Amino acid sequence: MNIEAKLGLDVFGLDKQPHIAIDQQVCQAVCRLRPCLFVCPAHLYTLDPEGRVQVNWEGCLECGACTVACQDKGLEWHYPRAGFGVQYRFG
Ligand code: SF4
Repeated sequence: MNIEAKLGLDVFGLDKQPHIAIDQQVCQAVCRLRPCLFVCPAHLYTLDPEGRVQVNWEGCLECGACTVACQDKGLEWHYPRAGFGVQYRFG
């Protein structure tokens, strides 16, 4: 079983309240490298047509890589509330 298939077995408890927020002012005015686009193992960060970073937080694996990589503090990240977030089934 490959990694994508294993991750496909994980279950996500979806909260209405996002646990990741992007500070677009910092992201656009300060950040040049946009490391979040490359470090997320779930590929949740994308650029919209206007070149702004967007995050599909519902599929977050809670690894924390994006918040470590964003050294310009353009992300507000915390764990999902109790009862929400990823439930690993197969690693
Ligand atoms: Fe992606 Fe990990 Fe950040 Fe979640 S915590 S958005 S999986 S890099």
